[in-house]
Amino acid sequence: MPDPTWLPEVLREAGLQVEEYPGWKDRGHGDFGDIWGVVCHHTGNPPPGNNPGYIANHPTLGLCSQLHLSRSGVFTVCGAGIAWHAGMGSYPGLPTNNANQVTIGIEAENNGTEGWSDAQYNAYTAGVAAILRKLGEPASHAIGHKEWAGGSQGKWDPGGIDMDDFRADVDTQLKGDPIMSLTDAEQVELLQKVRKVHHELTYGFQSRVAGSPFRDTVAGYVLNSDAADFRNEQRLKALELKVDQLLAVLVPKAGA
Ligand SMILES: [Zn+2]
Repeated sequence: MPDPTWLPEVLREAGLQVEEYPGWKDRGHGDFGDIWGVVCHHTGNPPPGNNPGYIANHPTLGLCSQLHLSRSGVFTVCGAGIAWHAGMGSYPGLPTNNANQVTIGIEAENNGTEGWSDAQYNAYTAGVAAILRKLGEPASHAIGHKEWAGGSQGKWDPGGIDMDDFRADVDTQLKGDPIMSLTDAEQVELLQKVRKVHHELTYGFQSRVAGSPFRDTVAGYVLNSDAADFRNEQRLKALELKVDQLLAVLVPKAGA
C-alpha cells in the first residue's frame, strides 16, 4: 500500500471533521510500503508547538506525524509520506527502531495531564478505527508512543489514556453497527420480529375498529372508547415487551 493519500476520505466517511494542511500530499520523508498500524501521541508542547503547522513543518524534524487532532476533535492531514514521530523503540510485530516506516502517527493536541474531552477522545478512537478498517488490521495495531518508546526514550504519551481501554474502544468502533454484527440467521429473525411489530402498529387498531358492530355509530364509538383504551393499553404493554425482547437480542451482541 503506497502513501496514505486516502486519509481525508476515510476519516470523512467515518463522520469525522477533516482539514487538509496545504501541501500535505507531497510532504514527508519518503514513501510508504506496507503500513502496519497507528502510533498515538499527544503534542505536549504549548502553542505554537501543538498546532497543525508545527506538526507539518517541525523546525528540526519536518513532518512529525501525518495527522493532527485538535481538542475539539478535528483532524488535520499534515502529510502523506513517512513522518518522524516514533523514534527509537520496539514493539511486537514492528521493526526495532523503525516504526516510522510502517505506521501512521497521530499527534493529539493535549498536554497529557489535562484530561480528554469526549469530542477529542471519541474522534481519536473513531479515527484510529477508520484507519485500521482501511488497512484491514485489528485494534491491536494501534499503540501508544509510550508502548513503543516508554523504556528507550521515556515517552509517556498519550498521557492519561490506558491503551488497553483505548484499543477496546477502537474495537467497538470496528465492530460498528450491532445489527450488522449479527449472523445472517439472526438478522432474518430480527427483521421478521420488527415486521410483525410494525404490522401491529400499522393495522392492529384499524382491524379492531373495523370488526366492531358499532363502528359506524356515535353510541358505538362512546361505548367502545373505554374498551378501546383498555385494548390499546394492553397492546402498548405487549409492544413494550416485544421491544424488550428485541433489545435482549441486540444488546449482548453489541457488547460482544
Ligand atoms: Zn509521541
